[in-house]
Amino acid sequence: MTTDANARRLFADLTGHDPVGLWSAPGRVNLIGEHTDYNDGFVFPFAIDFRTVVAVGTRDDGRIRVVSTFDEVPVEVALADLDTLFPDRRDEVVEWARYPLGVAWALQHARGARDGGGADASASLPGIDIAVASDVPVGAGLSSSAAIEGASAAALNDIWNLDESRVALARAGRRAENEAVGAPTGIMDQMAAMLGERDAGIFLDCRSLEAEVVELGFAPAGLEVLVIDTRVTHAHSTGGYGERRAACERGAAIMGVEALRDLTTDDLPRAQELMDDVTFRRVRHVVTEDERVQDAVRTLRAEGPRAIGGLLDASHASMRDDFEISVPELDLAVDTARAAGAVGARMTGGGFGGSAIALVDRDLVPDVTAAVEAAFAEAGCAKPHVFTVHPSAGARRDA
Ligand code: ADP
Ligand code: MG
Repeated sequence: MTTDANARRLFADLTGHDPVGLWSAPGRVNLIGEHTDYNDGFVFPFAIDFRTVVAVGTRDDGRIRVVSTFDEVPVEVALADLDTLFPDRRDEVVEWARYPLGVAWALQHARGARDGGGADASASLPGIDIAVASDVPVGAGLSSSAAIEGASAAALNDIWNLDESRVALARAGRRAENEAVGAPTGIMDQMAAMLGERDAGIFLDCRSLEAEVVELGFAPAGLEVLVIDTRVTHAHSTGGYGERRAACERGAAIMGVEALRDLTTDDLPRAQELMDDVTFRRVRHVVTEDERVQDAVRTLRAEGPRAIGGLLDASHASMRDDFEISVPELDLAVDTARAAGAVGARMTGGGFGGSAIALVDRDLVPDVTAAVEAAFAEAGCAKPHVFTVHPSAGARRDA
């Protein structure tokens, strides 16, 4: 069954009637720019052809109910209670449900702030039923979280007549993830899910939230983007991710700047003098990565996609050696893909597992796939999931 059909089926099972409509939002691959978003820097992701679909209807009792094929036990609360649930009592809701409920909560707040409605923000809003289905792999670094947030935000924006901008919907998704779920992520994923376009990447300034749609030209150049999901799991809300954020904040404070975005490579010698080695290497990753992102956009426009391979490789080395967020399986995926002829390769996403991407000539896709699978088998690793993704449209109404 298609994802659309799954969402419809789940909605009908839940409510006994048809939905008002279907909305969807994509996962994303980050082409380059890792851990730069929360440092006010630059990222260059694209939305992919894997999507999360929500089938949505209204109800007249002011309650919101969510259900997902991910976990078919529905969760239901009064819209008016969302404000007591988030953020303090979020643990009372099963984690997956905090994504759509958190988006509803964040959108209520945005509306309340705009209309001066404060805590009564939910007063005039109709209740909602949401059924979620998805083909975005979960926890693979492809941002299934932003996909569920984006689909929920697009649906609620229409059904509640909120008339919010795409950027405002992305912000609501991020707020849900940060405060309702408790994962301290930046805004890149939500912006990619909201603003993505076919055959294009989103060059995003995470400080101003100015976004440029940049044609990628992979297909005319005969290139495919291969995702290598290592199936090693990561957890954003814990451990390494938080530590990396703290190191970046420390580095910015030592340098007397608001965010690492405000530094250039010219500042690195002074940073090295002022900081311990670990903090310095974290800073160096972010500063050089910001430059690589801008370089990638320039290079792509001037010379085409084949010319960005070296920047992808350099990005991976920086994450492996300076930011230390790679794992042996990601290094193996990247090294093997490159040795088998990839134009460039890097881990993508927050790190500590998840996926790598490789830019590969269409004709070489079978060879690179086979080489990676063989290398994983030889190393005694679980079989990786290797597949192609294509730059695709952002959140939209589908039916
Ligand atoms: P990623 O975004 O890289 O896939 P995250 O840990 O950020 O990984 O988000 C994954 C979480 O998002 C899941 O554990 C689940 O809680 C929620 N989620 C994602 N997709 C769905 C879905 N289709 N239905 C319900 N929850 C989902
Ligand atoms: Mg995520």
